[in-house]
Amino acid sequence: MLMVEMEAPRSCARSQLAAASADPFAMQQRSDRDEMRLVHLTKVENLWNSAIREHRTEEYASHCPEPDLKMCDEEQRGLCWKMRLRCRNCDYASTKCKLYDDIPSSGRGAKAAAPNRGVHLGLQDTTIGPTKLRLLVASTNMPPPSRSGLQKNAATVSAETVQLTETDMSDLRKALKTINDLRGLDKESPINIQMDVRYNAISIASRHKMGQSALQAIGLAIEDHTDDHKIIGMYICKISSAP
Ligand SMILES: [Zn+2]
Repeated sequence: MLMVEMEAPRSCARSQLAAASADPFAMQQRSDRDEMRLVHLTKVENLWNSAIREHRTEEYASHCPEPDLKMCDEEQRGLCWKMRLRCRNCDYASTKCKLYDDIPSSGRGAKAAAPNRGVHLGLQDTTIGPTKLRLLVASTNMPPPSRSGLQKNAATVSAETVQLTETDMSDLRKALKTINDLRGLDKESPINIQMDVRYNAISIASRHKMGQSALQAIGLAIEDHTDDHKIIGMYICKISSAP
């Protein structure tokens, strides 16, 4: 029979580590062994299946007929985790596996975990930021990502979103020029647009209203060439909040 237990992350248990012996399971009494983790199901299945197969080989099965596997040596990667399996009845240890999908990259260094980038795409459609995200994650009984890691990923996703949006709007403007051409107009003829501008807060400045005063104005240009009325340009400018 296989028994399953999770070992606490080493990164956040330095004091316990200092007191621990060479026994890799020395931290099993920690209270945070009841915590949750965000893991990729298929990768967890693969980790367990490969460990069970390896443990069945003569090297281990001959002197350890009943494996007692547990998940050890956790490494936190933002919302994601790397870990390995060890057997408590023998010295078997699997290779340490990423329990998440990473993002292909030609650059140097560790590849980013997809959920760590994806969560910032979601945050862009909400009114909460990294601090509240940490609170939400902690509320689910999962160790929250570090503040610095969240900020770094937020900056990366923000820059990529801006680049993608500008490319998308540029393609839309080129398509509208093609429509001009099809209508017998000069390709450089003006494109009909409507504008909408809003502030980033409901008040400019007031001693009597709660909340942050508006510091930015966001203008959107919406094309009237087609019935789609897509956004083909935007402009953000800082405004003075002085009364
Ligand atoms: Zn064993």
